[in-house]
Amino acid sequence: MAYKFVDNYREKGARKKLVEHLKSRGISDTKVLNAIGKVPRHFFFDETFWIQAYRDIAFPIGDGQTISQPYTVAYQTELLHLKKGDKVLEIGTGSGYQTCILMELGADVFTIERQESIYKHTIRVLPGMGYHANFYYGDGSIGIAEHAPYDKIIVTAGAPFVPEALLKQLKIGGALVIPVGDEHSQKMVTVFRVDEKDYEKIELDTFRFVPLVGDQAW
Ligand code: SAM
Repeated sequence: MAYKFVDNYREKGARKKLVEHLKSRGISDTKVLNAIGKVPRHFFFDETFWIQAYRDIAFPIGDGQTISQPYTVAYQTELLHLKKGDKVLEIGTGSGYQTCILMELGADVFTIERQESIYKHTIRVLPGMGYHANFYYGDGSIGIAEHAPYDKIIVTAGAPFVPEALLKQLKIGGALVIPVGDEHSQKMVTVFRVDEKDYEKIELDTFRFVPLVGDQAW
């Protein structure tokens, strides 16, 4: 049975303050900021912790999962330069917060999670909030070949290298955003597919993600 959420939390402008905070940290894409301002992040938290929902922190939300830090979500989303109707592959559904942000930006999202308990939880939560993404259970390090190619691919777990399968599933002119490094820290990497064979890679800031575990991963 799907959850149905009723928004009765008086967050007293906390969501707006979060948006202002993200601006002060350098997030400048208005569409991304508007999406952060729209998604009710407290829906991902147990009621006891609603007070924490609009702080710029990652947070454990049960089932062994964490909801990503808003800054990280905004940073990765900004790098995607999404256009309405873009077909997006997201590796690591987790709580589904990032999925909601992508959908607020008009993306057609294919999202995959490898942990069954998390997958089962999120496929109930998101539709209850009105976000009907295409949910998959399995190893996203090999992508989802049957729906390729994608305009954009976002990986929300730390990879040891850029998986070859994801590069192949990217449209020409498309972009892949993925944190790459060791288990302690990763550089945010954007890979653009220039043509059939050529890719351009840009390395950006340092982050710390949970590991991407799978066939073309840890
Ligand atoms: N983006 C989510 C959010 O907004 O809250 C948080 C994602 S969490 C940091 C990373 C997720 O990637 C975890 O749920 C983990 O189980 C998942 N993951 C790790 N390796 C994976 C793989 N090979 N395929 C799919 N999901 C994977």
